[in-house]
Amino acid sequence: MKFLKLINPLKKGTKLYSIVKLKCPRCQEGDLFLTQNPYNLKMFDKMPDKCPVCGLDLRRESGFYWGAMMVSHATTTAIVVIVHLIVFRFYGWDIAPNIIAIITVILLLFPIVFRNSRAIWINLFVSYNPAKNIHNNTMTKK
Ligand SMILES: [Zn+2]
Repeated sequence: MKFLKLINPLKKGTKLYSIVKLKCPRCQEGDLFLTQNPYNLKMFDKMPDKCPVCGLDLRRESGFYWGAMMVSHATTTAIVVIVHLIVFRFYGWDIAPNIIAIITVILLLFPIVFRNSRAIWINLFVSYNPAKNIHNNTMTKK
């Protein structure tokens, strides 16, 4: 069990923790999105301007999250290939079952892919640094 703890990729402090739990990449405590429910279609894409815990500017710069579209594109492509391989097993190259299955799965997973793509994108640029937490370190206050 101790070995498992050492290699646990979901341990706090890892990028995967921030991406899977949709937490701020710097403190890994503040939420990246205003709602926890990805299927709240009015709110699923809303992010706070700053991390409520460490104050990290989550907007970064205008157009920052355009890069997340590339992550989303790669993720969606992988999903399409997997769904096609599953449908191919039962229907072969029949176009209708393939298209129906792919569109259904993409629509159902869209909010999750969207949010996790943004989390992956911001994690490429921000590293875990709990010392910047404004609530337990007054040195970082301006
Ligand atoms: Zn934070």
